[in-house]
Amino acid sequence: MRLRTPATLVLISALLAIALPILLSIYLARKEGLRAEQRTALTYAREVLHRSDSTADQIEVGIAALTAANAGAPCSPKNIALMGKIDLASSYIQAIVHMSGNQVECSSLGKELNGLNLGPVDLVQPSGVRLRTHVLLPFAPQTMFMTIESHGYAAIIHKDLAIDVLTDTKNASLAILSAGQRKVLAARGFVDPQWLDALAGNKSTKGKKEARLVDDDYVVAVAVSSRYLFAAVCALPVSQLDMRVRRSALILVPVGLLAGLLLAFAVVYWGKWQSAMPAVIRAALRRNEFFLRYQPIVDLRNGRWIGAEALIRWQPARGEAVGPDIFIPVAEECGLIGRITERVVDLVGRDAVVLFREHPDFHVGINLSATDLHDAATVDLLRRLEQDGQAEPRNFMIEATERCLMEPEIAGTTLRRLRERGYRLAVDDFGTGYSSLSYLGNLAFDLLKIDKSFVDAIDTGAATSEVVPHLIEMARALKLEMIAEGVETEAQASYLRAHGVQYAQGWLFARPMPLDELLAALNRQYENEAQPA
Ligand code: C2E
Ligand code: CA
Ligand code: CA
Repeated sequence: MRLRTPATLVLISALLAIALPILLSIYLARKEGLRAEQRTALTYAREVLHRSDSTADQIEVGIAALTAANAGAPCSPKNIALMGKIDLASSYIQAIVHMSGNQVECSSLGKELNGLNLGPVDLVQPSGVRLRTHVLLPFAPQTMFMTIESHGYAAIIHKDLAIDVLTDTKNASLAILSAGQRKVLAARGFVDPQWLDALAGNKSTKGKKEARLVDDDYVVAVAVSSRYLFAAVCALPVSQLDMRVRRSALILVPVGLLAGLLLAFAVVYWGKWQSAMPAVIRAALRRNEFFLRYQPIVDLRNGRWIGAEALIRWQPARGEAVGPDIFIPVAEECGLIGRITERVVDLVGRDAVVLFREHPDFHVGINLSATDLHDAATVDLLRRLEQDGQAEPRNFMIEATERCLMEPEIAGTTLRRLRERGYRLAVDDFGTGYSSLSYLGNLAFDLLKIDKSFVDAIDTGAATSEVVPHLIEMARALKLEMIAEGVETEAQASYLRAHGVQYAQGWLFARPMPLDELLAALNRQYENEAQPA
């Protein structure tokens, strides 16, 4: 598909700007919802396992005490009394019995259970522990019990003891399983023993191994005890997650929509601004809304102002000033940079009349863009400076960024002709472009302007700070003088001075200023120097 107009592009960007934040917010809501749901499931699974472990602890301790106390006579009155005491002291155990095969021989509950057949064992764990999972007792026919038997003693507990966990989530499935055989011992809701597969490979921490998974319809958490052969499972229906997502989407979508609308508004505004820009710049040129500020270049060795860079400013009749960082790239893109450079040259030419009459050794830096360097007419344009301003080419320093020099064969022609006429040449923003030492050597520049980003990095420990000495070294090897740009602190100035950088420009010394301020300062400098020491 070919996009015919920038308007289509702007529209598509605007639609994307609305849709993307919303889709993103729903995606994030689901992700966050899933995480929250898994956290909840894991909390319940842990609680089930904790109850199961505590029960197993009580049974283990109780049976160990009984076997130790009365190995030979398990149903002696003394031992039965001990059973009673252990039963009473254990919060989870309902009764302790001694078995003879499947029959109760004696119990902590008196004689009532004696002779009762508890039925066959359902499961024998590798540790030898025998489990009956469906036990009914005559005095509580409504309640299902479980027995856990070892060394002939069996503890009777409520079947649902471990899963009797209060959940604030409806439809939560809970289960306790025999870990090895994957047999469900007690469960509430749907449970798939295969979920325990998720534990494979998971690390064991704090006495348990845990895993989380999402099955088709369930968000699942499993935890297996590392002390006993039990595993706990909690599963929450995915439908609940969807509800949660809907709830957070209810909050996030309006926020996304608002963000999207703002973004879309910005995109449309930016698009309009971009397409209106050429006309606006033309109008600004017609209305003379551009003017210059001069920022001094200082000799670091003695503090003298030896030159100044001309920096263009734009103050529209209505509205705020627009910085060159914004309109220069736009002007380059829409083919108006030539007109701007022409305006700069005319403005500099006008100022040069006064400036160089009084300060013939001073120089003014003029920024050229890549388009200017590719245009043969630029050399003729700059000749206006010589005719209008009673100035000589050596009074001007042409600043060309490294990026301008990407096609050195073309840009080189203009620069070489300027050089031949006697203009000084400087590489602007040195270090940020695609520097090739060969063009630096071939084009015979006078100066390198070390970019502000490197000056900023001085003494910060940042990776770029290590580049500064290399840049300085490179300039020295090429026999080029240096101007450090954007010097803001005394520490930066001392560093640069100590490393042999000759000149600097930056707020530490002076901000860009109008011509009359520059002239006043230069006159003061001249008078000071004229005074006998
Ligand atoms: P540049 O040529 O690197 O100019 C230096 C920029 O750094 C200027 O910003 C200047 O005001 C700023 N600067 C100087 N010292 C300091 C300092 O100590 N701290 C900070 N934070 N900034 C400092 P400005 O005037 O906004 O110019 C931005 C860019 O716009 C220039 O970068 C140049 O690329 C372009 N530009 C400015 N005037 C012209 C022009 O007449 N023609 C062309 N083609 N481009 C221009
Ligand atoms: Ca510059
Ligand atoms: Ca620069």
